Amino acid sequence: MVKFKKTIFKKLVTIFIALLVLSYIVTGGFLYYFLNDYATREKVTALEENADNLKSVFAYYLNLKQKNVVNADEWFEYYLDLASTSSNSIIWVVDKNGYVIFCQPSAAKDVLDKYKDETNWPKLPDPKQYNDVMSNGGAILQKTGDFFGFFKDDSFKYSSWLTVQMPFQVIPQNGQQETIAAVYLHTPLPEIQRLRTKVFQLFMISGGVAIFLAIVLVYVFSLRFTKPLKQINNAARIIAAGEFRNRLSVKGDDEIGQLASSFNQMVDDLQKVEEMRRGFIANVSHELRTPMTSIRGFIEGILDGTIPSGKHEDYLIIVRDEINRLNRLVNDLLDLARMEAGEIKLSIKPFDINELIRLSVIKNETLITTKNLEIEANFDTENMLVTGDRDSIERVVINLLHNAVKFSNENGRIIFETAKNKDKVFISIQDNGIGIDENEQKRVWDRFYKSDKSRGKDKTGTGLGLAIVKNIINEHKQEIWVESEIGKGTKFTFTMDFFKNNIED
Ligand code: ATP
Ligand code: MG
Repeated sequence: MVKFKKTIFKKLVTIFIALLVLSYIVTGGFLYYFLNDYATREKVTALEENADNLKSVFAYYLNLKQKNVVNADEWFEYYLDLASTSSNSIIWVVDKNGYVIFCQPSAAKDVLDKYKDETNWPKLPDPKQYNDVMSNGGAILQKTGDFFGFFKDDSFKYSSWLTVQMPFQVIPQNGQQETIAAVYLHTPLPEIQRLRTKVFQLFMISGGVAIFLAIVLVYVFSLRFTKPLKQINNAARIIAAGEFRNRLSVKGDDEIGQLASSFNQMVDDLQKVEEMRRGFIANVSHELRTPMTSIRGFIEGILDGTIPSGKHEDYLIIVRDEINRLNRLVNDLLDLARMEAGEIKLSIKPFDINELIRLSVIKNETLITTKNLEIEANFDTENMLVTGDRDSIERVVINLLHNAVKFSNENGRIIFETAKNKDKVFISIQDNGIGIDENEQKRVWDRFYKSDKSRGKDKTGTGLGLAIVKNIINEHKQEIWVESEIGKGTKFTFTMDFFKNNIED
């Protein structure tokens, strides 16, 4: 049982986690990539805007310089400082020969000072650091890395930088545009990477939380599955052991709820079948034991002389009757069993039901006359053709006639009636005998059922007659019902298919 629960739980958890991890890896991968791309691009745009502004300010500065305005240098330096702080970047202004003429913030100047040459101005050591932008026709350049080894210097915390180079152009007298300087903005890349790592970390943490929650949910959920399954399994075992008392208490209209209610339904049915089986065996053994006990008693009485020889014949007659009854009982049981197993094939042919009734009455004439009963036949027409298995229907009629005779009082009256009703023929047999109690009418079709009243009147019956009748009628896909009133009489009616003779039509 535990193993069973474990496997379902394990499977669910494995599938869930596999799905979660997969979707996290895919989403995380995309996120990482786009975040990187997006953050760099954001930064580049911001730096480019800054550089563009600085270009205008530089032009203005050159203008002030030309007019020999005092403090122009201080003013420009101050402006660069502000721009550097706000964009979190190092700003240079480089002339076309690679001399750095301005640098902000001032802290960044120390490294530059190492590159001072005889002019006492710092000159960028690698021509690639300025040649590209100066000869690029005025287009902006963008580079990532250590800017040709410049940021490898120990005084920088990071070696990975984003550099934007914005050329500054003038139109001299001859009209040919010329790049005379460039504004450089350097911003450390780890800034961007840190942002990316942060977001990614958050994402992973939320992923962890989600996986944890998923496991908890799956666990709770799988308990909801496995608990009722476990219950059903246990109940099935108990039932297999022949104990039908328990029912499942699983509720809900999902598949498991439905399974539970079907299961309960099945147990109900099994219980009924089991009760029927037990009742049947009890009935059969009772019915067999009673005559056998009396037969044994009589035979022993004859053998040991308790029964005087003059009475032997009387007792032997009783023994013969009992044996006949036993024989009939066994045959009826066998027939019922065969019918229920579907072994008896009906041969459906047209026949005259009125004729069949007449013959049945004649065959049982002695029975009828000993009770001095009057027989009446109410037939719509002389002949009434129906289709069915003639032998089986004869058995039905004779069984019903026997009952009518058996449960009639002396001088009673039995009425047969056949009437056409659309495609059907209604056949009924009515007596004015003891009648059947309203509560008992439903049960007369049960095997071995005999009403208490009839027991006094009839000691020969086994209570199988109507069970056989019902079976035959069912096999014909027809109906049979009973109407009765205690003390007034009983009427059994069954239907048959009317035989339509095409030639007559
Ligand atoms: P068997 O037919 O096997 O000899 P039975 O006649 O007692 O035995 P059924 O024919 O199955 O058994 O009938 C069952 C019970 O229904 C009868 O014992 C009787 O109580 C009741 N019953 C059947 N027919 C009538 C009837 N015409 N009038 C009153 N009670 C009847
Ligand atoms: Mg009977």
